[in-house]
Amino acid sequence: MTEHSMTIGKVELVSLTDGGMGPAATDFFPDSTMDTWRSEFPELLDTDGNIGLRLGSLAVRSGGKLVIVDTGMQFPDGSGTLMTDMAEKGVDRVAVDLVVMTHLHADHVGWNLTNGAPTFPNARYLVPRTDWDYWTQPDVLASAEHVQNQVLPLEKLNIMDLIEDDYSITDDLTTIATPGHTPGHISIVIVSSGERGFILGDVVHSPAQAHLTDWNPSFDIDGETSRKTRHAILSQLESDRSVVASGHFPDPGFGKFVRESGRRIWQGV
Ligand SMILES: [Zn+2]
Repeated sequence: MTEHSMTIGKVELVSLTDGGMGPAATDFFPDSTMDTWRSEFPELLDTDGNIGLRLGSLAVRSGGKLVIVDTGMQFPDGSGTLMTDMAEKGVDRVAVDLVVMTHLHADHVGWNLTNGAPTFPNARYLVPRTDWDYWTQPDVLASAEHVQNQVLPLEKLNIMDLIEDDYSITDDLTTIATPGHTPGHISIVIVSSGERGFILGDVVHSPAQAHLTDWNPSFDIDGETSRKTRHAILSQLESDRSVVASGHFPDPGFGKFVRESGRRIWQGV
């Protein structure tokens, strides 16, 4: 049975899933080739050459607060599973104190609101200021319906706070700027009772990038910065042996980046 919760010091993480997507591997990673996928990572491909991308969120219990990191996609056809998954795993949406968005892509803000009302009625919603500044530029906003529908209303409802880099969410959770995928993308560093963890966001989308770290997804807004960030963060996580939570990795998305036979790999737990 897959274990969906784990602890890092005094911090408890619960892995949540809103469903998944299955893009063609070489469409999603234009730097990659089907030959490389088939020879190196056959376990990550389905028979049609598609990769599974889980739409993961996290519930984090830290310092007496219940924090949700990213809110999935809320597919318009009603097939999103985040609410039922939370209920099954004992995470009460009414008890959520804080919702943190790693960035403002559609698959990370989907359940902020449900039919226009806050899905997490007692929460403050924390948005990285640099991403807010980017996505609310009129020309960007015009084609970002998900920001119009799931982010802008938070400001009008007066339940949103813009956060700077190195923001302390709780005593154990601090944001870190990890730009490239989007300009204001953040990750979250966990340090608690001498243990280290890291909530990746979309610095990495596939375990294949542990080794082929240059591979950028087609959705990166600034590919060069994204690649630089990915190299720096993965080197850091490999050397400090942080426990990592990765929302797009196979369920439950907990593991470590470790070196084995001269190459970095993702070791899921
Ligand atoms: Zn994403």
